[in-house]
Amino acid sequence: MHEMSLCVSMVDLLTEQLSAEGAQRIVRIEVEIGALGHVEPEALAFCFSSAAQGTPAAGAELAIRVQPGQALCLDCQRRVRVNQHLDPCPECGGYALQIDSGDQLRVIAMEVI
Ligand SMILES: [Zn+2]
Repeated sequence: MHEMSLCVSMVDLLTEQLSAEGAQRIVRIEVEIGALGHVEPEALAFCFSSAAQGTPAAGAELAIRVQPGQALCLDCQRRVRVNQHLDPCPECGGYALQIDSGDQLRVIAMEVI
C-alpha cells in the first residue's frame, strides 16, 4: 500500500529528528497532503498508527490537512489551484493544465515531549 511506505519513511524521519532534539516521545504531528495526490487521509491515519507501533511516535495524534493542488495553465500561463485532476483552469476555462505539486506529503509540525 502506498500510504504504508509513506508512513514508514515518515516515522523513520521523525524518530531521527526526535533523537536529534533529545526528546522522548512524539505527541502530535501535523501533515499536509495534496488534494491531487494518491494519498487517502483515512488510509494515512490508519497506516500511521500501525507504522508508529513500537516507536517513539506510538499513540501520537496525527492531524491531516488537505491542500489544493497547483497547476500551470498552458493556455493562459497562470499558476492556478485545482482540486481535481479533470478540473478546468479557473482563470480561462482551459484544460491544458500541467499539474505540479499535488502529490506531496509534508510534515508541517511536530510536538515532542
Ligand atoms: Zn488558464
